[in-house]
Amino acid sequence: MEITRIGRRGMLFTFFYLQDTGFGVTTNVYVINAKNYVFVCDTFLGPESMKEIKRYIEINFRDKPIIVFNSHYDWDHIWGNCTFETSLILSHEICRNNIIDKAEQELEIYSEHRRGEVNIIPPTNTFTDELTFYEEGVKFFYSPGHTKGSASCVDFVDGVLFAGDNLEAPIPYLQDGDIKSYQRTLEKYLQLEVDTVIPGHGEVSNKSLIEDNLKYITSLTNNQAEEYLKSRYKEVHLQNLKLLGKL
Ligand SMILES: [Zn+2]
Repeated sequence: MEITRIGRRGMLFTFFYLQDTGFGVTTNVYVINAKNYVFVCDTFLGPESMKEIKRYIEINFRDKPIIVFNSHYDWDHIWGNCTFETSLILSHEICRNNIIDKAEQELEIYSEHRRGEVNIIPPTNTFTDELTFYEEGVKFFYSPGHTKGSASCVDFVDGVLFAGDNLEAPIPYLQDGDIKSYQRTLEKYLQLEVDTVIPGHGEVSNKSLIEDNLKYITSLTNNQAEEYLKSRYKEVHLQNLKLLGKL
């Protein structure tokens, strides 16, 4: 695990476990040390990894309550919720429903990747459009894309967007076929006053990652995505075409 300071009050925890086990990606958990709360965006693969973050928060940001956010329901972003059982856990309402419906099954399928003893804990509180913590300068908002229930977090103080798996280099994976909504989400991201963009997996970036991903999603909506058959994109692109029924 690697810790990177972002801006004045952000800490990025990057985990290498999935990269080492053949998935080929690092995974990000983003922590914002705001005025009265500490926000934890996504919880990776379980308590073993999240205990380190919890301890870091206890040592460095003592006494502040923790609020957890799930960007989407996928197993590699929510299994650590059980480390924060006494905290509020936020998500979009579709995300919570997906966790209730699908997380136990995903835990069985991918159980070898658990980091510690995982209990599935669904979000305790949901929103439909957005939820702003005005005193904290932090907003969570609905951003359908990678999944129908995906949401994002923006820190206005540092100008940081945490986008979960809606953004990925070089192109994102689709798990939902509504690419028009995906396009609108990425266009909305571009309007935000942020300089730093953090995807659920991979390197910290800036708006160029949003632009690259928007170009790809737009090419899918226009059926003009041939250039993505090049090797760098090919594997993910073919999976996306399959999901869209275009293969
Ligand atoms: Zn993921």
